[in-house]
This record gives sequence, C-alpha cells and structure tokens, in this order.
Amino acid sequence: MREVRIRDSLTGELRVLDPDAEIGIYACGPTVYSRIHIGNARPFVIFSLLARFLKSEGYRTKLVINVTDINDKIYVAAKKAEDPSAEFARRMTDAYLEDTARLGLGRPDAEPLATETIDEIVALIADLIGSGHAYESGGDVYFRVRSFAPYGGLSNRRTEDMDQGEEAGSASLKEDPLDFALWKAHKEGEDTSWDSPWGPGRPGWHIECSAMAEAELGPSFAIHGGGSDLVFPHHENEIAQSQAAGRPFAQAWMHNGMIETDAEKMSKSEGNIFQLSEALDRYGNEAVVAYLISGHYRQPLAFGAEQMDEAVARVERLRNFFREHGVEAGAPPPEQQRGGSVGGAPASRLDAFRDALADDFNTPRAMAQLFELVAEANRAEVPGAPEAVKAMLELLGLGSLAEEKHVMGNASVSGGGEVHASGFAARPVEEALLVERDEARAAKDFERADAIRDKLAELGWEVRDSAEGAKLVPKS
Ligand SMILES: [Zn+2]
Repeated sequence: MREVRIRDSLTGELRVLDPDAEIGIYACGPTVYSRIHIGNARPFVIFSLLARFLKSEGYRTKLVINVTDINDKIYVAAKKAEDPSAEFARRMTDAYLEDTARLGLGRPDAEPLATETIDEIVALIADLIGSGHAYESGGDVYFRVRSFAPYGGLSNRRTEDMDQGEEAGSASLKEDPLDFALWKAHKEGEDTSWDSPWGPGRPGWHIECSAMAEAELGPSFAIHGGGSDLVFPHHENEIAQSQAAGRPFAQAWMHNGMIETDAEKMSKSEGNIFQLSEALDRYGNEAVVAYLISGHYRQPLAFGAEQMDEAVARVERLRNFFREHGVEAGAPPPEQQRGGSVGGAPASRLDAFRDALADDFNTPRAMAQLFELVAEANRAEVPGAPEAVKAMLELLGLGSLAEEKHVMGNASVSGGGEVHASGFAARPVEEALLVERDEARAAKDFERADAIRDKLAELGWEVRDSAEGAKLVPKS
C-alpha cells in the first residue's frame, strides 16, 4: 500500500491519507436542471478514478456523489419545459445516470438525492437553531454567519466581498446580509414543498450537501471534493453549518479546475459537443475520459474540438499499440514480473505511474510514464510492456483499449455515416472525423480538412470524394 498524499485546498498543505481508516470521499454532484456538460463530468471522472486507485492500493474507500434534485434552477427549467418540477428533476436525474454510465467507470458507492434526505436536513437545521447558529424568520430559516468565527477560511474572502447570491426578496428577513438560507418557505408558483417545524417549504442547497455527506459518511470523513466554482459560497457554507453543529466534517478538500471554452467557437460550430452525451457520441468514452485526465485536476482545462481531436489521437495510438502487441493471456501481473526474466523496465514504469497518482493524483505525470513505455515498446520489443500498459489503463478506466483486435477487411462509410459494405466498419470516431472534414470543406477551411484527412490516414483510412459525398475506404 502506497502512502497517498492530497493537497488540501483549505490549508494548502499535503495531507497523508490514513491507511487504517475508511477513506470517505464526498463530491458534489450536479443540480439536475438540464443534461450535464463536460464541466460536470470532470469531478465525476476525477473522483471515480481516485476511488478506483485507492481501492487498488488496498484502502477501504467509499465514494459518494450526490444529486441535487431540489433547487431554484429546477423550478425555472421545469416551468419552461411545462413539466411538473418533480417529474422534470427525475427525468434529468435519469439522463445524468445514463450519460455518466456511458463513461464506462461504473457508479459511485452511494448517490444520495436531496429529496430522499429531508428528515436529516430538517434535523440538522433544528440543531443549528437550538445552538443559536440559525434563526427562523417569516417561514425561512437563516444561518447566522457571524456566530461562526472561522467563517471564510476556505475562500479567504474579506467579509465585504461575500455575496451569498440569494434573491433580493429575502434581504428583509435576514438579521445580516451575510446570512444565508437553510430553509425557504413555500412560495407561490412552486409545485413541491416539504413539511417542517417552520412550515411547508424546501431546504437550501448548502444544507442538502452537509446532510447528505453526514448521512453517508458520518460526522467526519477524509475528503470533500467538487469544482473550484463551489468554494464560495457552497463549500464555505457547508463547513459553517456542519462545524457549527459540532461535526468535524471534511479532513481535506480537493477542488478541480474549471473547463474553459472559447466562447466564440462554442456559440457557433462546437456548441453541442459541450454536452456530455454529444461529446460521447462524437468522440467515444475513452477519448472523453483521456481528455478529462490530460491535465492536473487542480488546473483549468481548455476545451474544444482541437483538444478532443488530440484526445482521439492519443487513444488511437494506444489502440494501435495493442493491435500490434497483444497482451499475453495468463501472463502474471506486471508487478510480479520484476526480477524475473522480463527485466525491470515495465514494472518500474508501473511503479512510477502509481507513484504519480499517489502524489496528489497527478494524472498527466502518470500518463507520461504510460506513453514513454509505449514508445519504448514500439521501438523494440519490451517483454511485459503490453501487460504493464494494460494495468495502467485499467486504473484509468481505459482498459477497453487493450481489448481491441487487429482490424482488417473491407468497409466503406458514406459521408452521412451509413455503413455500406459488410465486414468491418469505421468506428464512430472515424465517422465523426469524416463529418468534421465535410464541415471544414463546406466552410472552405481546407487546411483543417487536410489535417483531418491526414489523421484518418494515420488511423488506416483513405478518404475518397465522390459524387455522393466523401467515403472512408480502408487503406490496403
Ligand atoms: Zn454540494
């Protein structure tokens, strides 16, 4: 079992995970008011893979990713869709489960819903009122921010820069503009509400996560994660609520950087690939996962067709590696080959790969080890290399790349993606590239069209332009 260190975003210090304790991880999941986008997929992928890595190292690990299915945004979106909000939230929750399942990383150990945690939420609010940290006002309940001295420790903001982002209407009910809502009285036009000692209403967003984390992981747990956009006010308020109520709460915080898009490109041609389901359709799950771990989780990550094409090329390089170098059936795990006849290179690469993940989950450094081993084995046969690369890919949820068989036979695919000939056909990735090339040509961007043609050639396909449009023909 390796020592695993995580950079705590609260203190800035590296925290060593306790090998004897259960490692509880709570990551904030989506608010289900629309289909999720690539930005929502990043924490899902990072924390799913972190849990997978910890389990593989022998840590007892429990990963919790919640679903926020009570929220102002849901009422607004449901009204627009002319749907009852509960039904709308259920449908969006199903879509979220379906979209994330397609990533091929399995499910978190628990996925609590706010609507199923109302009793715990109400009890936690009652605790806070009892201890003087919260007060009822006009059917709402607010947290008394100045009653919690450490407030602001996570986001390091000056009090005057703190804006809770709550609707102006609640200002007159607050003792202090800094205070934030724990419970909101039922308002006209909202088609759901729950009973509480303060009358019918619904919980605020922050208290939902405090209660769901405790319900699944207890009053103290190892890691709380989420996007860096949640530091203030969401996570600051979670800490205040839980600690004011006497719970130690998270021992370390992990925040992933934002996905950054080129606003101009997004509004034009690339807009729909920002939606996770569209990106999965177009590029395949392996490329989406490979893209999301291509940068360090704490850093922002640029997103667009160019970055996705690069991810597709990396994934194809790995597929090709396994087409050329099959994994030996029944070979011992690479860790056990060290000191044997196969020499130490693949085993020490796998060690260095795991070391990188143990060091604040440095996926780009781990990927560099993987690709260096691939390059070495492509130059000259390295016994044990395919097995070691496969073991690395499995840790990243990309094990399917090692199952690719050598592709041969005849196929041609029309510009519309329709498969004509029997036998082997281009995969969605190649079809997507062909469509992209058509679009580039239509836009008279011939440089890009040629670059895509070259990429397809690398993947083993020739592009033939005909009267009926472009076709893919396997290169002989
Ligand atoms: Zn949350």
